[in-house]
Amino acid sequence: MLPALLLAQRRAMRATRFVSSSMHAALVKSDTSPVTAADFASQAVLSLTLSEDDAARGIPILGEEDADSLARPENAELRKLVRSAVAFAFERDSMREHDVLNAIQDAHSPYATSEARFFTLDPVDGTKGFLRGGQYAIALALIEDGTPVLAALGCPHLPPFSLDGAMDSINNHAVGTLQYAERANGAFEVDLQVPSASPRMIRAREWKSGSTIRVAESVEAAHSAHDECAKALALLSCPIASLRLDSQAKYALVARGDADLYIRMPTRAGYFECIWDHAAGVLIAQEAGARACDLNGNALDFSAGERLFNNLGVLCGDEELITQLLAALCR
Ligand code: AMP
Ligand code: MG
Repeated sequence: MLPALLLAQRRAMRATRFVSSSMHAALVKSDTSPVTAADFASQAVLSLTLSEDDAARGIPILGEEDADSLARPENAELRKLVRSAVAFAFERDSMREHDVLNAIQDAHSPYATSEARFFTLDPVDGTKGFLRGGQYAIALALIEDGTPVLAALGCPHLPPFSLDGAMDSINNHAVGTLQYAERANGAFEVDLQVPSASPRMIRAREWKSGSTIRVAESVEAAHSAHDECAKALALLSCPIASLRLDSQAKYALVARGDADLYIRMPTRAGYFECIWDHAAGVLIAQEAGARACDLNGNALDFSAGERLFNNLGVLCGDEELITQLLAALCR
């Protein structure tokens, strides 16, 4: 199924780029978060591409978006843009509205998580980043018996390959990055600039005790408690180089050794992380040699439904660093 996932990613990246190059407005969802034509188009493209693959077809998909708001009469303009973006991704002249809406809804199965095997996807993770021209990601993962086993993560604005420590130079790259992993087979990054190039194996960085900690965290203070993160890291008495970026691009940085740690601390009691915000990034970072766990050191449990109901916050990075941080948090 890996080729289908990578093709889906390449097409979805085309769709989101198409939307970002046109004038567009966001809708506001019931939880007050934004959703754009890019989110809908990307979900349709991922759904349609998986349905073309013999092995992937029929596996239920839990994608973040549903088609309800898009189907409303007042959103005709938005539908037009979504159809154009999907057609552009498939290099077709046009797409039928009905097919696009069905594809989005097909990838929003409320029953997916009750199956032993399902896909979860976030068509545009970090929509706020997308809207401000920052980082965003297209995240796609296959979960088997509660564990991510196959993942592809497209980061259309992330410069390809290692930044060699130049963490502050992350900008909005024109080509972007595509990483993937299969369980027990390592993690890889595809060179999107050289289509014939072989994928490169990526490895997380080994943090040396006492050295600077390169930390990736959310831009949005509403998604991760910046002050609490800073307080926790201060317990280690090491220099901190913090980089704030949206989306699972944070996992991509850990996976290829550009960051030592991704930290996410809850901003309020009762918030549980959505599985599509983590499944793909976690598998890729783990396959690159990083550890992923919650703030209590528990493994992330993808078997509890749509959210990580058994976990609190997220840590992903060097094993020794996380061990020291967990010990410091317990003291
Ligand atoms: P990031 O780009 O890392 O800040 O994460 C983006 C994701 O944060 C979105 O896809 C949302 O699902 C998720 N999110 C929304 N509200 C919260 C919250 N209160 N705490 C943590 N994550 C949230
Ligand atoms: Mg998301």
